[in-house]
Amino acid sequence: MSAKIIDGKEFAATVREKVATHVTRLKADHDITPGLAVVLVGEDPASEVYVRSKGKLTVEVGMNSYEHRLDATTSEADLLALIEKLNADPAVHGILCQLPLPKHLNEDLVINSIDPAKDVDGFHISNVGLLATGQKSMVPCTPLGCLMMLRDHLGSLSGLNAVVVGRSNIVGKPMAQLLLRDSCTVTIAHSRTKNIEALCRGADIVVAAVGRPEMVTGEWIAKGATVIDVGINRIPAPEKGEGKTRLVGDVDFASASAVAGAITPVPGGVGPMTIACLLANTVTACCRANGLDEPEGLTA
Ligand code: NDP
Repeated sequence: MSAKIIDGKEFAATVREKVATHVTRLKADHDITPGLAVVLVGEDPASEVYVRSKGKLTVEVGMNSYEHRLDATTSEADLLALIEKLNADPAVHGILCQLPLPKHLNEDLVINSIDPAKDVDGFHISNVGLLATGQKSMVPCTPLGCLMMLRDHLGSLSGLNAVVVGRSNIVGKPMAQLLLRDSCTVTIAHSRTKNIEALCRGADIVVAAVGRPEMVTGEWIAKGATVIDVGINRIPAPEKGEGKTRLVGDVDFASASAVAGAITPVPGGVGPMTIACLLANTVTACCRANGLDEPEGLTA
């Protein structure tokens, strides 16, 4: 293996430290404590894990955490009424509605009912538009985390060729926007893209956000390229025992790390950065709401 491992766990800890320092300052100088409200509808086990871990880390950095757990049968009207209440609550600076929502709820409607200034997931249509036009916005946490790691490892991204594999609204598209804003030449690849391997081989940066275990192999990667693996896939691991599973990314780590210059592992890469960026977005939202200077290095 030749690639440098970009340690997302360690980097996320430094981001959380910066957030905690700023939270302490907000309390001491302005008597303000940032607050993050997380809304979970239903009992999706993966969402339960995320929400628990978000709540724990929110408290760890000194912020207030408000958890709202609603029954899976909650009506759209009740959910919208809760969001309206949180929008109006001055103690709440960030609102996150854990996705996916149960099928009877309209996700777009719910997301767009969140006050854009409190939309710490960055999914509100206003924030999407602001990001696309290069204006100050709330930036989706996962792409923000990827950008931070890329800047930290590469310095300036200007002029680099980047391929983003995946065009989802939550990862692929905002990732491409952020790279474009940092003056990369960006190609977005998806399930209909032709010669995807050749495109990736021409890239200085490959970001894989596909949801297909180990799809991107070393043969797709140029020597020395930087590889960011967003994928989180659980696959069978019979070597660990019957019925056991393990987590892998969208990149085949063994072959890709033999040629890449740097690579994020799964787990321990993008995942921890996503939650750290959620906390960063909450402190940023709090500063903006109070007309205060934003912390440096915590936004795009
Ligand atoms: P989506 O399913 O919404 O999007 C997947 C994208 O991959 C689509 O644009 C799709 O193309 C494209 N795609 C699918 N198959 C292929 C293929 N064979 N070749 C090229 N492109 C393909 O996924 P998400 O963006 O939500 O998530 C992607 C991955 O990232 C998942 O593994 C998810 O678990 C993980 N994730 C991790 C996070 C973290 O914190 N680390 C946060 C969010 C997601 P098309 O549009 O043409 O269908």
